[in-house]
Amino acid sequence: MPIMDGKLVAKETREKIKNEVQSFYEKYKSIPGLAVIQVGDNQASSVYVRNKHNACREAGMVSYEVHLPENISESDLLHEIELLNNDIAVDGILVQLPLPKHINEENIINAINPLKDVDAFHPINVGKIMVGNYDFLPCTPAGIMTLLDYYNIDIQGKKVLVIGRSNIVGKPMVHLMLEKNATVIVAHSKTRKDDLLRLFATSDIVVSATGVRNIIDEDDALQYFKDYRHDFYRDFSVLRDRVIIDVGINRDENGKLCGDLAEDFKAKYSEYYTPVPGGVGPMTITTLLRNTLKAAKLLRK
Ligand code: NDP
Repeated sequence: MPIMDGKLVAKETREKIKNEVQSFYEKYKSIPGLAVIQVGDNQASSVYVRNKHNACREAGMVSYEVHLPENISESDLLHEIELLNNDIAVDGILVQLPLPKHINEENIINAINPLKDVDAFHPINVGKIMVGNYDFLPCTPAGIMTLLDYYNIDIQGKKVLVIGRSNIVGKPMVHLMLEKNATVIVAHSKTRKDDLLRLFATSDIVVSATGVRNIIDEDDALQYFKDYRHDFYRDFSVLRDRVIIDVGINRDENGKLCGDLAEDFKAKYSEYYTPVPGGVGPMTITTLLRNTLKAAKLLRK
């Protein structure tokens, strides 16, 4: 059973969260609320925002849609955030990225009350993750940890390759893996391709978050064996116990959703892998729900 079924794990986890929301209601006589701000009508953003609203409602929480025009000024957007910061019905605030180019994303993220920052992007929350004393974890890396835990994948002492170093996925992933006592290596666009292949071949867990389709493919693997005639690495299948977490969301030549790595490649060179779609994506939204409930609890302390 090599596929890590993010849909299944998300469904089970969301059921638990739904029960916790019910207990929260019984204790506080209020329902956790999430405000999702969307600026403009970017198609992909609209799909992500709709999924977040639906998940929120299914978990028994209130979801507020704040849909603002593409040409809103930065100061007006900051004013909207201020209103939500002061709104006691709103426990979590999420600004769907990317924002239009005339708005400075950093200024917007910095304006969110850190206690309502359910994406965990505010510098205060980023710093807290760095020192290992956090309230919220960023949704995608935390969702990945939940998935690994569900499949009883031991992390301690394992060699983990994280491909990608964004603030949203790669960097926080490194911290969460370190916290679980992994030996972590980070690759990025300036990493030499031969190094990337060697690291891939020798890692126990690979998390790929690049948005580059076929970041490593079968041809690369074959070329690698040709260039490096080490018997141990001659066949990637010697190392089949690798776990591959594919975060990437790309489109193939037919417009079909796909990850950073081809499905058949992942199946061949791993013991467990996440498919795209249906792997990491559902777990990301699940963490968002968890963070919203956590924010609601923190705000009532
Ligand atoms: P970014 O574009 O911010 O970061 C991409 C990272 O990949 C960068 O660190 C970049 O390196 C690195 N990279 C690019 N090309 C290569 C290469 N050839 N070799 C090695 N590393 C490379 O993207 P995000 O982190 O925001 O997202 C990554 C992917 O994950 C996207 O496809 C995104 O859609 C998806 N995603 C999926 C989520 C989900 O829930 N499933 C959630 C969030 C993201 P450098 O720093 O040097 O530029």
